[in-house]
Amino acid sequence: MGQQESTALIPFENLPKGSHVCHFYRNARELSDAVIPYLRTGLVQNERCIWVCSEPLGAKAATDMFKENLPELAHLLGTEQIKIVSHDELYLDLHRRLDTNAILSRWGSEIYNSIVAGYSGLRITGNLSWAKSRQAILDYEERFCAFSLQTPMIALCSYPLQDMNVADIVEISYVHQFVLAMRNSTWELMPSARYRDLMWQSLLDTFSKGMLAINASGNIITASNMCLEFFGCTNLAGLGSNIREFARRFQIRSLTGRVRPDTPNSITSRDVDDYWKAISPAYGDLDLLVNIKTAKPNTVMPELYLLVFHDITGLRTLETIRENFLQVMSHELRNPIQTLKALLDLIEAYVAGRDTPLSKYTRLAESCLYRITALVEDLLSIGQMEHDSLTINAIPADFKELLIESLEPYLTGSQHVFVCRFDEEAGFPVVVDPVRIHQILANLLNNAVKYTPQGKRIWLDFSVLSKYAILSIADEGIGIPPAELDRIFDRFYRGKNTRGKFDGIGLGLYVSRCLARMHGGDLWAETRPQGGTVIKFSLPILINGACELDQTTADG
Ligand code: ATP
Ligand code: MG
Repeated sequence: MGQQESTALIPFENLPKGSHVCHFYRNARELSDAVIPYLRTGLVQNERCIWVCSEPLGAKAATDMFKENLPELAHLLGTEQIKIVSHDELYLDLHRRLDTNAILSRWGSEIYNSIVAGYSGLRITGNLSWAKSRQAILDYEERFCAFSLQTPMIALCSYPLQDMNVADIVEISYVHQFVLAMRNSTWELMPSARYRDLMWQSLLDTFSKGMLAINASGNIITASNMCLEFFGCTNLAGLGSNIREFARRFQIRSLTGRVRPDTPNSITSRDVDDYWKAISPAYGDLDLLVNIKTAKPNTVMPELYLLVFHDITGLRTLETIRENFLQVMSHELRNPIQTLKALLDLIEAYVAGRDTPLSKYTRLAESCLYRITALVEDLLSIGQMEHDSLTINAIPADFKELLIESLEPYLTGSQHVFVCRFDEEAGFPVVVDPVRIHQILANLLNNAVKYTPQGKRIWLDFSVLSKYAILSIADEGIGIPPAELDRIFDRFYRGKNTRGKFDGIGLGLYVSRCLARMHGGDLWAETRPQGGTVIKFSLPILINGACELDQTTADG
């Protein structure tokens, strides 16, 4: 094959195997202008070629025209590197119907024969002017798209523009990967909308285990194929009609409680990450990281939430090993801590009333022990929460009294100024597990003291909002960068301005928020405008002897 120069006008050389291209023509000239260079490229690349002809360029006319362009055509026809046939020989069965299965299997054997004969692949082209049923041809092309992708075959389908409207062109393009079109007197191969969809889908699949889109009411709008496969479904209905059904079917449980799959309205307009546990029929028990993004509405799309799933089951297995280790360790530490406490009490009783530096040392030892106890309790709580074995033994109590009890260890010899701004007489009746509330308060007070320089102030306030009593702990310490106000409640997360500078492992707030929510309350952080941090801790308040919980807020 010597004459390559005219093919350079059409970008056929770089078409990958498996490509399925369509092209629209107005007359026989435009048809041959595209098809002849396309076939010549194939012949140059040692491919076997088949041209399936129909009006306005029947097999005989096509052969004559090709011969003019390619003198060695007769030889190539003889060796069967190229075949020029009429459409009714190839596409139509005895009843002159398009039998897709028969044609695809015919293409299968043609590919096989081409490879066995030493060609690098098969290149076909057909003019579909004969096709009367648009739906039949769309169905065929759709099946062909999936079929050809896996093969060393390239196909160019030519469609007459006559009697065609824009909708027809769009539909036909969508069942091909590329559209060959003339722009500014130059041929261009453009990816079809389908090709772009597939490309985005495969990119998405590379980075995740698929995507699910729901609308603001929680109805499932669409899902990527990967998502369907991941949850073992063959179609969208398999996932459920809405997010609640989806959560039920796959036994989904949100670990952070930041986004509840059963209450999509609690998804805020902010983008968040969440951790879910799920059971997929295809993959069994799963640990998922879910990126939840809000897609803002536009003219073609309503407001949607996009849930992108990442399978972190393997990572979590490692974490489970670490958790088990921490559990065993913290359990083992409990007994020696109790013994140390008893010994310190004994020493304290012994030195009481004597003038000795020992009392100062015992106080110091006690505050260290207090810190170790809090840490061990947090570690134990995490394990219990993970295994749903953490119990809340709720009894009537007063939020303010619990705070005063928790404050005690901080007041003697404190290096900070505590300012209590609440009314000593006011009561904030709650029904809580006092041990757990003390655990939360110890974490919050520890943080306030740890992250506030000595001599600075820490303010304590109570207020009542709706059906909640809210404790605010404000400090004039180092503060929390706004971007981290929510992240600091993640497990093991430590602020950028504290890592390496202050002791800690990043568990206190995570455990405390979980415990607060188990009581129907919540915990959140705000920036103090004058510098420092405000941590707010809410609990449902007893009104006339009952907690009237507003369900949505209590779940929050
Ligand atoms: P530990 O698990 O020992 O309590 P930690 O204090 O680092 O360690 P958390 O109590 O969970 O962990 O707090 C998480 C992060 O939040 C801290 O590392 C810190 O960056 C930030 N933080 C919490 N409270 C305050 C505060 N009052 N002022 C400034 N930063 C705070
Ligand atoms: Mg802490």
